[in-house]
Amino acid sequence: MTSDIGSNIRLLKQQIPGPVKIVAVSKTKPVSDIMAAYNAGHRIFGENRVNELLAKKKDLPSDIEWHFVGHLQTNKVKQLVGNVDMIHSVDSFRLLATIDKESEKAGKITDCLLQFHIAREETKQGFSIEEAEQVFITGQIENFQNVKISGVMGMATFTDNQEMVRSEFRQLRAYFETLRALNFSNRICFNELSMGMSEDYMIAIGEGATIIRIGSIIFGERNRT
Ligand SMILES: *Cc1c(COP(=O)(O)O)cnc(C)c1O
Repeated sequence: MTSDIGSNIRLLKQQIPGPVKIVAVSKTKPVSDIMAAYNAGHRIFGENRVNELLAKKKDLPSDIEWHFVGHLQTNKVKQLVGNVDMIHSVDSFRLLATIDKESEKAGKITDCLLQFHIAREETKQGFSIEEAEQVFITGQIENFQNVKISGVMGMATFTDNQEMVRSEFRQLRAYFETLRALNFSNRICFNELSMGMSEDYMIAIGEGATIIRIGSIIFGERNRT
């Protein structure tokens, strides 16, 4: 298995347009699997649990870029800030405010994406567009000086219905364009559209994804818990 990881990465890179960034989602996978991808030249990895990310990070080369993609509890923010290059999953303004506060204390600027709810499933976290627009339009966003809001993230419904997935990605892109059209101070950095996983990344790229988050295609299926 491990020996395939490098070729999986290389194949994926051949398939997708150069500017699209791949976050290799290594959750539940051992450090040796991450090293296999690293040795194939990959440098961007994603995790969905704070403790797991921190434990792996300390055993791995320091030029890895770490992305956090899972639901983040406010009581874990302090540990994560300063140890992560981007948080994809900022799903409430309470969480954004906490990241801002902890970043200020740590003397860091934390790169964040706002996660939107686009899927049919009730369980997937995220902002509503009304809520996000409100915070940009009222200028509340300017109170957060220690976060850099670089764009948006979303997950489509887990379904074989490709047209449903496509329309959800289109919806996310529309939210992204709506927010980008507003006037806010770090607008210039608001460039990232994180969407697409192993099952649907080609659709996501077709709809304008700038970052895809890929686990199983690179590392193989995860054991279901
Ligand atoms: C696990 C996970 C992925 C990768 O999923 P695959 O289907 O294995 O590619 C992407 N994004 C998030 C938020 C995840 O939790």
